[in-house]
Amino acid sequence: MRYLILSDIHSNLEAYQRCLEASRGLYETMLCLGDLVGYGPDPNAVVEAVCGAAAAIIRGNHDKACAGITDAEDFNPLARAATHWTRQQLTPENLARLLSLIEGPLSVDGFELVHGSPRDEDEYIIDSLDALPALEDASSPIIFFGHTHVQGGFLIGPGSRLQPIHAESAADGCVLTLPLKAGSRYLLNPGSVGQPRDRDWRAAFAILDSQQRQVEYYRTGYDVNATQMKMEKAGLPEPLITRLQFGR
Ligand code: ZN
Repeated sequence: MRYLILSDIHSNLEAYQRCLEASRGLYETMLCLGDLVGYGPDPNAVVEAVCGAAAAIIRGNHDKACAGITDAEDFNPLARAATHWTRQQLTPENLARLLSLIEGPLSVDGFELVHGSPRDEDEYIIDSLDALPALEDASSPIIFFGHTHVQGGFLIGPGSRLQPIHAESAADGCVLTLPLKAGSRYLLNPGSVGQPRDRDWRAAFAILDSQQRQVEYYRTGYDVNATQMKMEKAGLPEPLITRLQFGR
Protein backbone atom coordinates (compact mmCIF):
# COMPACT_ATOMS: atom_id res chain seq x y z
CA MET A 1 0.00 0.00 0.00
CA ARG A 2 1.17 3.53 -0.75
CA TYR A 3 0.16 6.14 1.85
CA LEU A 4 0.13 9.89 1.35
CA ILE A 5 1.12 11.41 4.71
CA LEU A 6 0.19 15.04 5.36
CA SER A 7 0.74 17.15 8.46
CA ASP A 8 0.27 20.71 9.68
CA ILE A 9 -1.96 21.98 6.89
CA HIS A 10 -3.02 24.98 8.99
CA SER A 11 -5.97 26.21 6.93
CA ASN A 12 -3.80 26.70 3.85
CA LEU A 13 -6.07 25.54 1.02
CA GLU A 14 -3.71 26.49 -1.83
CA ALA A 15 -0.85 24.45 -0.33
CA TYR A 16 -3.15 21.48 0.39
CA GLN A 17 -4.57 21.43 -3.13
CA ARG A 18 -1.10 21.69 -4.65
CA CYS A 19 0.08 18.70 -2.57
CA LEU A 20 -2.88 16.69 -3.88
CA GLU A 21 -1.99 17.63 -7.47
CA ALA A 22 1.67 16.77 -6.97
CA SER A 23 0.82 13.38 -5.44
CA ARG A 24 -1.98 12.41 -7.83
CA GLY A 25 -1.68 8.76 -8.88
CA LEU A 26 1.17 8.14 -6.42
CA TYR A 27 -0.85 6.87 -3.44
CA GLU A 28 -3.93 4.88 -2.46
CA THR A 29 -4.65 6.08 1.08
CA MET A 30 -4.32 9.53 2.68
CA LEU A 31 -3.38 9.92 6.35
CA CYS A 32 -3.09 13.16 8.33
CA LEU A 33 -1.00 13.90 11.43
CA GLY A 34 -3.10 16.83 12.63
CA ASP A 35 -3.20 20.63 12.74
CA LEU A 36 -5.74 21.00 9.98
CA VAL A 37 -6.48 24.52 11.21
CA GLY A 38 -4.86 27.53 12.88
CA TYR A 39 -2.78 30.32 11.25
CA GLY A 40 -4.26 30.21 7.72
CA PRO A 41 -7.32 31.76 6.02
CA ASP A 42 -9.42 28.71 4.97
CA PRO A 43 -10.32 26.64 8.05
CA ASN A 44 -13.73 25.46 6.80
CA ALA A 45 -12.63 24.47 3.31
CA VAL A 46 -9.59 22.61 4.66
CA VAL A 47 -11.51 20.73 7.38
CA GLU A 48 -14.18 19.68 4.87
CA ALA A 49 -11.67 18.60 2.25
CA VAL A 50 -9.30 16.70 4.55
CA CYS A 51 -12.05 14.99 6.56
CA GLY A 52 -13.64 13.90 3.28
CA ALA A 53 -10.41 12.53 1.81
CA ALA A 54 -8.27 11.09 4.61
CA ALA A 55 -8.69 7.51 5.87
CA ALA A 56 -7.42 8.55 9.32
CA ILE A 57 -6.65 11.87 11.00
CA ILE A 58 -5.20 12.43 14.44
CA ARG A 59 -5.64 15.75 16.19
CA GLY A 60 -3.02 18.46 16.64
CA ASN A 61 -2.65 21.13 19.32
CA HIS A 62 -4.19 23.78 17.04
CA ASP A 63 -7.17 21.54 16.27
CA LYS A 64 -7.73 21.19 20.02
CA ALA A 65 -7.38 24.93 20.66
CA CYS A 66 -9.58 25.98 17.73
CA ALA A 67 -12.25 23.46 18.78
CA GLY A 68 -12.13 24.73 22.38
CA ILE A 69 -10.83 21.45 23.83
CA THR A 70 -7.91 23.45 25.21
CA ASP A 71 -7.64 27.20 25.68
CA ALA A 72 -4.96 28.99 23.68
CA GLU A 73 -3.29 30.45 26.77
CA ASP A 74 0.04 28.68 26.19
CA PHE A 75 0.15 29.87 22.55
CA ASN A 76 2.15 32.94 21.59
CA PRO A 77 0.02 36.05 20.95
CA LEU A 78 0.04 35.60 17.15
CA ALA A 79 -1.07 31.96 17.31
CA ARG A 80 -3.66 32.93 19.90
CA ALA A 81 -5.08 35.67 17.66
CA ALA A 82 -5.32 33.20 14.75
CA THR A 83 -7.02 30.67 17.05
CA HIS A 84 -9.67 33.20 18.10
CA TRP A 85 -10.25 34.17 14.46
CA THR A 86 -10.57 30.50 13.46
CA ARG A 87 -13.09 29.80 16.24
CA GLN A 88 -15.29 32.59 14.86
CA GLN A 89 -15.12 31.19 11.33
CA LEU A 90 -15.80 27.49 11.96
CA THR A 91 -19.25 26.24 11.01
CA PRO A 92 -21.00 23.97 13.56
CA GLU A 93 -20.37 20.99 11.22
CA ASN A 94 -16.64 21.66 10.98
CA LEU A 95 -16.35 22.33 14.70
CA ALA A 96 -17.97 18.89 15.24
CA ARG A 97 -15.46 17.36 12.81
CA LEU A 98 -12.55 18.85 14.77
CA LEU A 99 -14.02 17.73 18.09
CA SER A 100 -14.25 14.16 16.81
CA LEU A 101 -10.57 13.87 15.80
CA ILE A 102 -8.76 11.17 17.76
CA GLU A 103 -5.64 11.52 19.88
CA GLY A 104 -2.45 9.80 18.66
CA PRO A 105 -0.65 7.43 18.67
CA LEU A 106 -2.62 5.58 16.01
CA SER A 107 -1.34 2.27 14.60
CA VAL A 108 -1.74 1.74 10.86
CA ASP A 109 -0.29 -1.22 8.95
CA GLY A 110 2.61 -1.72 11.41
CA PHE A 111 3.59 1.93 11.71
CA GLU A 112 2.45 4.63 14.10
CA LEU A 113 1.06 8.14 13.66
CA VAL A 114 1.53 10.86 16.27
CA HIS A 115 1.21 14.66 16.18
CA GLY A 116 4.02 15.54 18.61
CA SER A 117 5.68 12.42 20.00
CA PRO A 118 4.64 8.88 21.03
CA ARG A 119 4.66 9.95 24.70
CA ASP A 120 2.83 13.23 24.43
CA GLU A 121 0.77 14.58 21.53
CA ASP A 122 1.94 18.13 22.33
CA GLU A 123 5.69 17.41 22.71
CA TYR A 124 8.11 18.82 20.11
CA ILE A 125 10.78 16.49 18.71
CA ILE A 126 13.34 19.05 17.62
CA ASP A 127 16.77 17.48 18.17
CA SER A 128 18.43 14.18 19.05
CA LEU A 129 17.88 14.77 22.77
CA ASP A 130 14.12 14.69 22.11
CA ALA A 131 14.31 11.98 19.46
CA LEU A 132 16.20 9.32 21.42
CA PRO A 133 13.67 8.86 24.26
CA ALA A 134 10.82 9.10 21.75
CA LEU A 135 12.31 6.24 19.72
CA GLU A 136 12.86 4.18 22.85
CA ASP A 137 9.26 4.72 23.97
CA ALA A 138 7.67 3.92 20.63
CA SER A 139 5.80 0.66 20.20
CA SER A 140 6.61 0.50 16.46
CA PRO A 141 9.97 0.93 14.67
CA ILE A 142 8.38 3.41 12.23
CA ILE A 143 6.79 6.54 13.65
CA PHE A 144 5.42 9.44 11.63
CA PHE A 145 5.26 12.74 13.52
CA GLY A 146 4.53 16.40 12.78
CA HIS A 147 4.19 19.49 14.99
CA THR A 148 7.69 20.95 14.33
CA HIS A 149 6.95 21.81 10.67
CA VAL A 150 10.45 20.55 9.75
CA GLN A 151 10.70 17.90 7.03
CA GLY A 152 13.05 14.97 7.76
CA GLY A 153 13.32 13.22 11.10
CA PHE A 154 15.73 10.81 12.80
CA LEU A 155 16.87 7.20 12.45
CA ILE A 156 18.88 4.78 14.51
CA GLY A 157 20.38 1.58 13.10
CA PRO A 158 21.32 -1.58 15.00
CA GLY A 159 24.39 -0.74 17.10
CA SER A 160 24.72 2.72 15.53
CA ARG A 161 24.13 6.24 16.73
CA LEU A 162 21.11 8.40 16.14
CA GLN A 163 21.27 10.29 12.83
CA PRO A 164 19.16 13.17 11.55
CA ILE A 165 17.40 12.72 8.21
CA HIS A 166 17.84 15.70 5.86
CA ALA A 167 15.65 16.05 2.80
CA GLU A 168 16.97 18.97 0.76
CA SER A 169 16.63 19.79 -2.92
CA ALA A 170 15.95 22.99 -4.85
CA ALA A 171 13.92 21.12 -7.47
CA ASP A 172 10.22 20.39 -6.90
CA GLY A 173 9.20 16.74 -6.63
CA CYS A 174 10.76 13.89 -4.68
CA VAL A 175 13.65 15.35 -2.65
CA LEU A 176 14.70 12.16 -0.85
CA THR A 177 13.92 8.43 -1.03
CA LEU A 178 14.71 6.70 2.25
CA PRO A 179 14.79 2.88 2.43
CA LEU A 180 13.37 1.51 5.70
CA LYS A 181 15.72 -1.21 6.90
CA ALA A 182 14.72 -4.07 9.19
CA GLY A 183 16.28 -3.61 12.63
CA SER A 184 16.44 0.20 12.33
CA ARG A 185 14.04 2.61 14.02
CA TYR A 186 12.65 5.74 12.41
CA LEU A 187 11.01 9.00 13.42
CA LEU A 188 9.77 10.47 10.14
CA ASN A 189 8.38 13.97 9.67
CA PRO A 190 6.67 14.60 6.31
CA GLY A 191 7.05 18.35 6.90
CA SER A 192 4.28 20.93 6.97
CA VAL A 193 1.83 21.38 4.11
CA GLY A 194 0.68 24.87 5.03
CA GLN A 195 3.35 26.58 7.14
CA PRO A 196 6.86 25.06 6.69
CA ARG A 197 9.50 26.25 9.18
CA ASP A 198 12.61 24.67 7.68
CA ARG A 199 13.58 27.74 5.65
CA ASP A 200 11.93 26.30 2.55
CA TRP A 201 8.60 27.96 1.74
CA ARG A 202 7.37 25.08 -0.44
CA ALA A 203 4.61 22.75 0.77
CA ALA A 204 5.94 19.45 2.11
CA PHE A 205 4.55 15.92 2.26
CA ALA A 206 5.70 12.29 2.26
CA ILE A 207 4.63 9.00 0.73
CA LEU A 208 5.20 5.68 2.49
CA ASP A 209 5.37 2.56 0.35
CA SER A 210 4.75 -0.20 2.87
CA GLN A 211 5.53 -3.02 0.38
CA GLN A 212 8.74 -1.51 -0.98
CA ARG A 213 9.56 -0.38 2.56
CA GLN A 214 10.58 3.13 1.62
CA VAL A 215 9.57 6.71 2.35
CA GLU A 216 9.64 9.40 -0.31
CA TYR A 217 9.85 13.04 0.78
CA TYR A 218 8.38 15.69 -1.53
CA ARG A 219 8.36 19.50 -1.89
CA THR A 220 6.14 21.52 -4.15
CA GLY A 221 5.78 25.24 -4.73
CA TYR A 222 2.26 26.68 -4.50
CA ASP A 223 0.50 30.03 -4.94
CA VAL A 224 1.71 31.51 -1.66
CA ASN A 225 0.65 35.02 -2.76
CA ALA A 226 -2.97 33.89 -3.02
CA THR A 227 -2.86 32.55 0.55
CA GLN A 228 -1.19 35.73 1.80
CA MET A 229 -3.79 37.95 0.14
CA LYS A 230 -6.61 35.97 1.77
CA MET A 231 -4.89 36.30 5.16
CA GLU A 232 -4.54 40.05 4.70
CA LYS A 233 -8.22 40.34 3.81
CA ALA A 234 -9.16 38.28 6.88
CA GLY A 235 -7.10 40.61 9.09
CA LEU A 236 -4.80 37.84 10.32
CA PRO A 237 -1.55 39.03 11.98
CA GLU A 238 1.08 40.38 9.57
CA PRO A 239 4.00 38.21 10.85
CA LEU A 240 1.95 35.08 10.11
CA ILE A 241 1.47 36.33 6.55
CA THR A 242 5.13 37.22 5.97
CA ARG A 243 6.62 34.03 7.42
CA LEU A 244 4.95 31.89 4.73
CA GLN A 245 7.21 33.21 1.99
CA PHE A 246 10.36 32.50 4.03
CA GLY A 247 9.39 29.07 5.33
CA ARG A 248 10.01 29.96 8.95
ZN1 ZN B 1 1.35 22.75 13.51
